[in-house]
Amino acid sequence: MQININKDVNLLEFGEKLQELAETDVKKCYQCGKCTAGCPLNYLMDISPSQVIRFCQLGMKEKVLNSRSIWYCVFCDTCSTRCPQGVDIKGVMDASRRTAVRQKIKPKADIRALEKSFAGSIYSFGRVFEPGVVGGFNLRSGKLLHDVFLFPLLLLKRKICLIPHWVRSSEVRGVFKRARRKERGL
Ligand code: SF4
Ligand code: SF4
Repeated sequence: MQININKDVNLLEFGEKLQELAETDVKKCYQCGKCTAGCPLNYLMDISPSQVIRFCQLGMKEKVLNSRSIWYCVFCDTCSTRCPQGVDIKGVMDASRRTAVRQKIKPKADIRALEKSFAGSIYSFGRVFEPGVVGGFNLRSGKLLHDVFLFPLLLLKRKICLIPHWVRSSEVRGVFKRARRKERGL
């Protein structure tokens, strides 16, 4: 991939901020590509995990924060455990995503809609209520009929239930509140 480096970009500031947030040293990366080779979501990403790290080294903030990759990462940690240099790629993905949220950068994927619906379900019921997650996702993403035709089949096979199950949701809400407080304090 050809990279055009903009001389106006503050090369140090973005990389250093991310390093601080992710608590890892992206400068150690020598582009072996082991992280990318092991990433199960790489096929969906527009820039690979090793390219994300390279752009961070070069301070190319726009490339990282506007990428689909930071939203598709599922934090499985495969990349970080494979890295011979001990770079926490997953941490960089997480820090980039949090930075994008704070800077109100709109994700290039519907993943935020799914994230909100999923978190909303956990907050309300203490566990996932699948029909609610799918309904919330469809409403937020504007894809109203997405997967709705699978519903009868899933019901017939008893893979989903129309009545949510509650589990100690007050404790789960406490976790959400603590996370929000932490996020505000960052
Ligand atoms: S595995 Fe580590 S050293 Fe290799 S490209 Fe990825 S971050 Fe860089
Ligand atoms: S943590 Fe993210 S980037 Fe790393 S292997 Fe998993 S999905 Fe890929």
